[in-house]
Amino acid sequence: MQFCEKCNAMMVPVTEEDGTRALKCRSCGNTKTIGGHLTVSQDLEKTPRDKIIIVEEDSIPMPTIKAACPKCDNNVAYYWTLQTRRGDEGATEFYRCTKCKHTWRNYGG
Ligand SMILES: [Zn+2]
Ligand SMILES: [Zn+2]
Repeated sequence: MQFCEKCNAMMVPVTEEDGTRALKCRSCGNTKTIGGHLTVSQDLEKTPRDKIIIVEEDSIPMPTIKAACPKCDNNVAYYWTLQTRRGDEGATEFYRCTKCKHTWRNYGG
């Protein structure tokens, strides 16, 4: 877990549309670019809502979260968010099972 240098709030991982990975402060919006580059297999805008975007690069250290995998009995997943260009839409959350590598979106509440 990383905390903001400015206000000590929790920072969450975000992925910009061009694949740049960064940590973003939930409180003050301070961002910190982190190394690595995510590659998505398909253009997001052409991807139907129910399709999963596969992350092809495994070498980026990602934070994990408790999330039940729909494919196996594992309940720990890597998570990240994908920012869309439209500011009025929230970031989409993705989970990836640490065990079977199944990747899914968090559709939220
Ligand atoms: Zn902050
Ligand atoms: Zn799994």
